[in-house]
Formats: sequence, C-alpha cells, structure tokens
Amino acid sequence: MKPVSIRSKFLLGVISLLMLLGILFIVLIQTIVHDRLVKELQLRGVSIARHFAEVATNPFLTESTILVEMLADDYLETEDDLTYIFAVNQKNEVVAQTFGKTFPTDLLTVNRISSDKPYGIVPLKTEKGLVYDIAVPVMKGELGVVHCGMSADSIKKSIDNITGWTTRIIVCAIILVSLIAVFFARALTRSLQTLAVGAETVGRGNLSHRIQISGRDEVGQLAESFNLMTENLQRTTVSKEYMDRLLNTMHDALVVLSPDHTIQTVNRAFCELLGYSGSELIGKRAGALLFGHKEFLDQEQTTRLAQDGFIEGIEQTYCRKDGQEIPVLASLAKMLDETGSLQGIICAAQDISSLKQTERELQLKSEELEELNQSLEETVQIRTRQLARSNEGLKKEIVERKRAEQELLHAKELAEVANRAKSVFLANMSHEIRTPLNAVIGMADMLRESDMTPEQQEYLGILHRSGLTLLELIRDLLDLTKIEAGRMELETIPFDLEEVIDRTCEMLAVRAHEKGLELTCRIAPDTPMFLQGDPNRLRQVLTNLIGNAIKFTAMGEISLEVKACAVEQGKVEIQFAVADTGIGIPPDKIDTIFDKFSQADSSITRKYGGSGLGLAISKLLLEQMEGRIWVESQIGRGSTFYGAVRLEPQVAPLPDSEFTARSLTGVKALIVDDNANARAITRELLSRWGATTDTAADGDSALAALHTAREAGEPYRLLLMESRLAPMDGIKVMEQLRLQDASLLNGTIMMLCADHPSSDIKRLYELGITTHLMKPLKRRELSQTIAKMLQVPQNAPPPAKQTATTMTQPPLQDMVRILLAEDAEDNRHIFRLFLKNTRFEIDEAENGAIAVEKFKSGSYAMVLMDMQMPIMDGLSATRAIRQLERERALTPIPIIALTAFTSTEDIQNCMAAGCNLHISKPVRKDKLIETIVNTAGGAA
Ligand code: ADP
Repeated sequence: MKPVSIRSKFLLGVISLLMLLGILFIVLIQTIVHDRLVKELQLRGVSIARHFAEVATNPFLTESTILVEMLADDYLETEDDLTYIFAVNQKNEVVAQTFGKTFPTDLLTVNRISSDKPYGIVPLKTEKGLVYDIAVPVMKGELGVVHCGMSADSIKKSIDNITGWTTRIIVCAIILVSLIAVFFARALTRSLQTLAVGAETVGRGNLSHRIQISGRDEVGQLAESFNLMTENLQRTTVSKEYMDRLLNTMHDALVVLSPDHTIQTVNRAFCELLGYSGSELIGKRAGALLFGHKEFLDQEQTTRLAQDGFIEGIEQTYCRKDGQEIPVLASLAKMLDETGSLQGIICAAQDISSLKQTERELQLKSEELEELNQSLEETVQIRTRQLARSNEGLKKEIVERKRAEQELLHAKELAEVANRAKSVFLANMSHEIRTPLNAVIGMADMLRESDMTPEQQEYLGILHRSGLTLLELIRDLLDLTKIEAGRMELETIPFDLEEVIDRTCEMLAVRAHEKGLELTCRIAPDTPMFLQGDPNRLRQVLTNLIGNAIKFTAMGEISLEVKACAVEQGKVEIQFAVADTGIGIPPDKIDTIFDKFSQADSSITRKYGGSGLGLAISKLLLEQMEGRIWVESQIGRGSTFYGAVRLEPQVAPLPDSEFTARSLTGVKALIVDDNANARAITRELLSRWGATTDTAADGDSALAALHTAREAGEPYRLLLMESRLAPMDGIKVMEQLRLQDASLLNGTIMMLCADHPSSDIKRLYELGITTHLMKPLKRRELSQTIAKMLQVPQNAPPPAKQTATTMTQPPLQDMVRILLAEDAEDNRHIFRLFLKNTRFEIDEAENGAIAVEKFKSGSYAMVLMDMQMPIMDGLSATRAIRQLERERALTPIPIIALTAFTSTEDIQNCMAAGCNLHISKPVRKDKLIETIVNTAGGAA
C-alpha cells in the first residue's frame, strides 16, 4: 500500500477539523436561535393575550360574547403565528373562541392557571405542529381567562433558513481554508521533499551533494544542519574512488598482498615501476613475479613483520616485465581486520636506481677527493711554510713602519714647532720691518712738507710709493700666512656698509683720477646698510678689486655696483661688482688668477707691478665670510669681478646713524657730466629724492638746456656741473655762461670734481661757485650739501662730516702733554715731527719701565704705548700704569696702543691690559692727530 503523504494527512486533518467545527457551530446556532425565537414567540403570545384581555374586559363585563368573538377574529387576522384565541369565564365556560363549531374542549383543561400567576404557557402538539397555549387572566381572573395559541411553525422555518445559510458559509470557509492549507502544505512539503531528495542522494554516497534551502525557518535550519553534517561526513569519509585516486596519485609504488603474498591491490606507480598492467599483477604471487621463484619475504623479515607489525627501509630488487632489475627501498606494514587477525601486507616501494647510481658516483668522487685531499695537504704545508716566512718579513716591515711613523710624528712636531716659530718670526719680522718702514714713510711724509727741487720731489715720491708698496706686500704676506695657518679671525662688529664703500671709493678715487679714469659707485636702493661683520676685511677686498681695476685700466672707467639679495637664516647676501674697461684677462688664466702668487701674464704684469697675492687673499677672505668671488672678462675690453658675502643685518641700528634723504620735490635740476654712467647714477639719486632732472653730456648742450629752461619760464634751481668736461671743461662753461648771461648763474651751482687743483678752486671762487663735491659722489654728502645749499628743511640733521668743501683751522688751546713709550729712536723722531706745530707736547720713554717711572712722577693727558719694547713691553707697562692709578686712586688716563700686529687676539690683549684704543703701525700723521684730538678733546 502506498504510504499516505504528509500533505494529504495534513489536508485531511484540516478539512475534518473544519467540518466538525462547522457542525458544532450549526448545532450551537440552532439551539441558541431556537430558544430565543421560542422566547420571543411566547412573549408575543403573552402580550397579544394581555392586550386582548384588556380590550375584551368591557365585553366581558357586559357579557357581550359576540363582541369578544369579533375582537378575537380581528386579532387572528392581524397577528402572525396566532393560531387561535378563546376566552373562558370564571366557570371555565367558553365565552368566545375562533375555532368555530369544532372547539377542542381538551384545551380547557391543559392550561389552567391560578389567579396569582400573571400567565401560563403550555406547549401543545397538534396536527398543525407545535403550538404554545398562553393563558392570561382577565381582571385578575375575576372575569375569566383568555387563551392564545401561538404556532411554532415560523420558528422552524427561521431555524431551517439560518441552518441553510450557516452551512453554506461553513462550506465556503472549509474550501478556502483547505486551499490555504494546500498552499502551506505544498511549501512545507517542497522543502521536506528537497531534504528527502538530498538525504537520498547523500545516502547513495554522493557526499558532495548540498541542499539549497534559503529560508531561516526550522526547515532551513534543518537543511543547514544537514549540509554541515554532509560536509563533516565528506571530510571524514573515505570513498573507494577517493582511495583509488589517493593511491594512484602517490609517487611511491604501493602493493597490497594477502597473507599468503598474493597481490591484491596495486597503484599506478607500482605498475609503472614494473611495466605490468594492474590486471597482470593482481592475483599473482608476489615472490614469483617479482623475484623469480623466491618468497616475497625471507624468514627473518617475516618474523620481524609478525613481531613489530612493520619493517622499514629494506632494500629489494624487483624484476621488471622486460627483465630489467630495479633496486627499491621497501617499507612493509601488517594490515589487520576488525578482529585483529592478519588481513594483508601493505608494501610501499621507492625506486632507488638513481640513488644507487649517485652512490656509485659518490664513491668514485670520494676516492678522487681522497686523492686531492692528499695533494692539498701537501700544498698547504708548502704554503704554510711560505706564509710563515713572509710573516716574518711583514713583522720586520711593521717594525720599520712604526719607526718611520714615529719619525714622521717627530718630524710633524718639529714642523709644527717650526710653523709656530715661523708665525712668531713673521709677526716679529712684520714688526721689525714695519718699524723702520714707519720711519721711512713718516720721514717721506714730513719731507714732502719741506721745500724741495722738483727732482727731489720726484725721488721722494718714489721713496714714499716704494715704502707703501713694501708695506702692502708685508701686509699681504702676513695675511696669507695667517689665513693658511687658520689663524685669521674675522671680526663681527656692527658697521655701516655705505661708510665702508664711500671711504674705499674716496681713497681710490685719487688714484683713478690721477690716471684720468672715471670711478663711479652705485648702491642699489634697497640695500641694507647696517650690518654686522668685519668692515676692515671687506674694505681690503674692495680696495684690492678696485685697485686692480685702476691698475689694469689705461683709459675709460671703473664702476662699483653694490646690491643685496635676501638669503635664509636671517642673513643677507651683499653682492658687488667691480667693472673696468682695462686690458682684460685671457680665458685660460681666468681660473688661476685666484691662486696665490698667480698673475695672468707675468711679462705684462711686471709692467703693472704686484705680488699676485691680492686676489688669493680676497678669495680666502670672502670664503671665510660665507661668500665667493668670480670674474668675467674679455681681452682688451675689460673685466668685471663679482664678489658676494653673507652678513647679518644689525638688529637695531643706532637711530642717528640712519640716513634719511631730504625731499627735493619741486626742485628742477640739470646734471652735466660727460660720463653716461656717472650721469645716470646722479640722476637716479636726485629723482629718488623727488627732483625733476635733465642731463647734458657736454658744455654746449648744458648751455642750450639752461637757455631753453629760462625761456620756458622754468629755470633750473640746481646745476650739478662736472669740472673735467671735454672739449670745454666745466669751469669754462661757467665762464661762458657768465659772459653770455650772468642771470643764468642764479640757480645753485655745484661743481663735481675728480681732482681739485688749487688754480681751479680759485677760478671757481671767482665765479662765485663755493660748493664742489669730490667724485664719485657719496649719497649722504650729496643729499646734505644740496639740502644746505637749497635750504631744504630737515628733521634731525646728522652730525656734519668733514666734507671736501669745509676745512676749518682749529683754535689754539693749552698745551697737552703726551707720554710716548717707543724703543725705536727713528719712530720717536717721527712722532716728534708729526706733532710739531700742534698743541701736543711729547715726553719720550725708551722702554716700558722708563714709561712707568715717568708716569709716576709726571702728569700726562695720555700715553702712546708701543707694544714691542725691550726690558718691559707695552702690555706690562700698561698693566703697571693701571695698577698705579688704582693704588693712587687716580682718574685713568687714555692709553693708545701702537702695534704692528693687527690680529683680533693682539688687539684683545691690548684692551685686556688696559689700553683704550689702538693704532696700527706704520702710523700716518693725519690718523695720529685725529686719534689724539678725539681722545684729548679740542683741536690739534
Ligand atoms: P696682483 O695684482 O698684485 O698681481 P692679484 O692677486 O690682485 O695680484 O691679481 C692677480 C692677477 O690677476 C694680476 O696679476 C692680473 O694679471 C690679474 N688681474 C687682476 N685684476 C685684473 C683686472 N681688473 N684686469 C686685468 N687683470 C687683472
């Protein structure tokens, strides 16, 4: 019999349940509705009877039975379900009835009510069906009782009707619910069916089968668990196919033998090893097939296998189908069944033919190695003997080298000592040479002031120049030695870059102008002026470059251009370029001229003189200032030397050192200069200060411009006239002007002079031109002079510097006594000469000790102290004087050190000993007087 499916069972159950519920529901409805309808029918009967009793009260009283019967008939017609009405009097005699002649008299007895009851109901079964007889007393029974018969026919009909409808609804509901149940049952059973199919597939051995049910309900969870179970099963179950695959994948040959050594199973590797197919092997006796007629295992092996259960690594030789013998390494193991009795033997065999071959080869190699080893040992022994010999040699060499090293060390120490001695020697020599030079140059200076023949003047000039050249050479040599010894210490002091540039140009302008060269200087507008560094060394570099430019230029001009480039770490790079129109440098010499003692062309240079040290020193100095130097040059056209240094700007420059140009707004100026560069620089300066400028390159153009301006009603307020114009010089132009129209001279006229022979000055005064400026023009001097001439107001005039236009004679004051400590007689003489005709009187001391003694007894305004003296040097003497001052509570007097050494260290030593100032030798007259005046106050 076919099993009933879950779906059918489920459907049958649901439908049966629904039917049972439907029947129960119908019965319940019938009962409730029947009771209710009966109640309603009875109550309606009671109310009809009561109403009839009330209405029929009067006819009762009047005993008008006909009326009562008429009333009863009316009721019978109007009321549904009313079957009959009859009324009886007190004696239970029918007074009115609706039955007509055939009144059922048994009705009189079935429903007799007592007078205390409101009504009585009795069901009667009649031919027409169930009728309820309802008796209601009239006037509490005093008049009689009214009976109504209410038919239950309508109740039956209603119940039948309701039952019919209820049954239909329930049937529909059963059908609907069945359909829904079918749907759910299908959904449920589909998953179950999938599960059943899956289980069946897995049961058939397909362990890779998985059930695809996506829901998360119980069936879904069941499927998931099922899949998990199958997965685990797959992992742990080894199928025959799997086993076969495993065996055939193995690289080792595998054979399974029965206990009597009959081949039962072989793998692919075993077949390939022996050259047989599987079917040729299975069922054969292993010993016979593989080893001829021998047993597969000998006695000893059989015993071992029985005892241990396995044998590992025995060497066997199998015979292949083609007769070839193959050595194998076999491992055997017993295979037992569930009861523990021997089921078979598993044998895994590995082909070791190549191993055997290698073994044979190794054996051969080993023998060869043995031989080689033998010969190597012999060679090593020979080499060891050789090494031992060379080791001996090396040891000797090391000893030699150590000795040489020590000698070298000693030599180095000696060299260092010599170097120190050289430095000291150089310093001393510098002093020793400078001292007589001081005398030579000083004397030459003094001689110049005396009357001499032109010839003597010339000789003296040569003497003076040679002295200066020698001095320069010594200075250069000393500098170079210092730099090379790493002893050149640069100062870091606040300085005014413009001051350095102006003074350098001023000094060199004389030389340039002597050669008829124009020297111009332009400082770019935004160049910071207040810097920190070594102004003297910077001046030395500039002097060397401009000096060279003058030296190597026969005609034309030399220009200095200075500008700044901002660089990092709070430093500013100052770049300068010195350009000339001189002989130029051959390209192959460009790189070497910065080497010491190197000159572009020694034959030519001999003509110009020089030591070849200047550029080398400049390069080293600039490099020490984090800078560099380079040159661009063209033979015959000139050279431009570029230099750069990195300097720190001053944090807060002194306010009165700031230069603020006076405004020249509204001032109309004419600049007359035959040099285009100089013209442009002057014009740039004046325009920057607000002036309206015009330029003229010669006298004629200047005259024309002056005329035109005057005619236009806008004459020039300022005229800057170069004195050395060509063809007509500046003074001549002025004279022309005066002749043509003197009123043209009404503006402010300033002469720009390269040099000023006294004759020219006289001519200028005659023309009424009282102001002249030396070229190259200095920004500050120009601004201040113009402001003074034009009376431009200024906020805070900086202290007026001595310019080329002013030279006042100091008033004579009281004599001032100065103690001079100097061992060289010549120098003392020079000092005496220098201070002749001044208010300074010198008292001399030949060494420090005498100076101290003189200081004790005399009274001096200051001391000039030479540092290098016999018996007691300047440092000791200064210390002694300061000591005396402290002991005697004297006001310290100024002590000015005179030193040939100019290193920072030397100067610091002087200051530490108690000196206030220092002047380096050779001392120049003007410098000496200036220092003394500044120190003592008053004038010379
Ligand atoms: P010195 O000028 O004393 O010989 P420097 O070191 O200053 O030594 O200059 C080295 C050489 O470089 C000079 O001899 C010259 O040949 C060449 N030189 C320097 N400046 C100029 C220049 N402005 N024009 C042409 N040659 C120059």
